[in-house]
Amino acid sequence: MTLLDRRRSFWAWGYEDALPDEAATSKLAAQIEAFFGETHSRSRGAPPLRSQLALAAPRVSLPADLSGSNADEDRITHTHGRGYADLVRGFLGDFRGAPDGVFFPRAEKDIESIFAWAASEQVTLVPYGGGTSVVSGVAAEVGPGKRGVATVDLCHLNQVLEVDSVSRAARIQAGAKGPELEAGLAPHGFTLRHFPQSFEFSTLGGWIATRAGGHYATLFTHIDDLVESVRMLTPAGVFETRRLPASGAGPDPNRWVLGSEGTLGIITEAWMRVVPKPTRRASASVRFTRFEDAVRAARMVAQSGLYPTNCRLLDSREAWLHHVVDDGSNVLLLGFESADHELGPWIDRAVALAVAEGGSCPTGVTQEARDAATWKQAFFDAPYLQSALVTLGVVVDTFETACTWDRFEALHANVVRRVESAMNEACGKGILTCRFTHVYPDGPAPYYTFLAPGRANEQIDQWRHIKDAACQALDESGATITHHHAVGRLHRPGYEKERPVPFEQALRATKAALDPDGLLNTGVLIAP
Ligand SMILES: Cc1cc2nc3c(=O)[nH]c(=O)nc-3n(C[C@H](O)[C@H](O)[C@H](O)COP(=O)(O)OP(=O)(O)OC[C@H]3O[C@@H](n4cnc5c(N)ncnc54)[C@H](O)[C@@H]3O)c2cc1C
Repeated sequence: MTLLDRRRSFWAWGYEDALPDEAATSKLAAQIEAFFGETHSRSRGAPPLRSQLALAAPRVSLPADLSGSNADEDRITHTHGRGYADLVRGFLGDFRGAPDGVFFPRAEKDIESIFAWAASEQVTLVPYGGGTSVVSGVAAEVGPGKRGVATVDLCHLNQVLEVDSVSRAARIQAGAKGPELEAGLAPHGFTLRHFPQSFEFSTLGGWIATRAGGHYATLFTHIDDLVESVRMLTPAGVFETRRLPASGAGPDPNRWVLGSEGTLGIITEAWMRVVPKPTRRASASVRFTRFEDAVRAARMVAQSGLYPTNCRLLDSREAWLHHVVDDGSNVLLLGFESADHELGPWIDRAVALAVAEGGSCPTGVTQEARDAATWKQAFFDAPYLQSALVTLGVVVDTFETACTWDRFEALHANVVRRVESAMNEACGKGILTCRFTHVYPDGPAPYYTFLAPGRANEQIDQWRHIKDAACQALDESGATITHHHAVGRLHRPGYEKERPVPFEQALRATKAALDPDGLLNTGVLIAP
């Protein structure tokens, strides 16, 4: 089988052939049983066959000469993102939200023609990269006064077009998925070095549109830091910024594109800062009996000026869940990498700082600590496991945030209190785990996972109850509604509380200027 033959699941994360099989799912069921302390569900449900899915007739017909398709298969595969509620709806065969059709443009002129067609036909457009949104960012919502909705999938705009090896930058098309983009850079000896957990399927345009966060804990890990210039087609014209290493000329136009989530235009390409592939690595795993000591150690490392590539704190449940340790320790994974210099002094100093806060480092410094390798594998397997857990009826989701260090303790206590009581109310019990995905000198980005036993056909309501409690806890604690999962429609109420009122007015005015007919992504970022 070649890569081209592999088919993405219409409801789950990833490729159909990579989903956990019966044996792996049974193992997972046993682990869940140990978690919940009772027989939860050993029987695995099954999604409907593709051929059994029923769609409403399209409200509008997409012109084929503009790369449009009204085919059921295309409408099905573009109905849902990959958030928990998307997975459950897809698994239950609920495709009522399907778009009327999908465009597959091959060039910028196609997108301009699609804008003109949508304006004259009064059709909403949803820009689409890899469809991995977890915040309802690619849901096909029909805008006010519109007749229907079409998705615009950028999969054919997926090339690395140019590499400037002197300035270390590359011009890359927005539809390139993580592996495609890295394959295009590899012959030049470069990497974008941006590895979100969704790397396999998400795209450059999606990362820029959602201000994605990569896998590395410090420094250049947000896509924001890697964008040199960007090109976005808007219904009002081309929005292209100049290639510059930095500029102090007024408000930064790149910042209008970053985080615009498909509401202002369609990003077609960007010049991205690239780096040589790292050749040296050093890593260590420091274990702590007490979570608060591990938190302090993470802060000491974050504020030391060492800027490790990895500074991932796993609380004891997170470490156990991902098979990193099973002795109840909290684990701080530390790592450095470089294409230029030896790393010994850096990792030794980071370990010394962590040990001084009460940690122990039984395995010492290695090129890749065993705990770090186990974690890395678990990190990329996790999305497949979440889909398997949906088949077992488990309510399972993650949420993430950032706050200043002085507020973390109160935030964490509030999140634990609110989310645990919401799980008890909705599901009778549940488990909450915490890790830090990123650390800054002034604060961490905590990332929470919750798992609770679901009841058949009630999982979305149960999830909603828990998710609302989580959002409330973040707002009460002065933390952000999202550090890197974007706003979409799901986080819009939290975003509305977080942003200044005059900023919302300016955002609406910007939308009116760039998208005067309100064609793009109704309901994302801004209430219709
Ligand atoms: C299992 C899993 C793990 C994840 N891990 C991470 C992570 O580690 N870090 C992280 O930041 N996020 C993560 N996410 C969230 C998601 O992958 C990111 O938001 C990602 O950036 C979306 O990229 P995409 O190409 O799939 O975009 P899509 O899901 O297709 O779209 C996302 C939003 O961007 C808009 N958009 C997409 N392409 C364009 C374009 N070319 N021009 C204009 N607008 C566009 C869409 O309209 C939509 O509003 C994860 C999601 C899942 C399911």
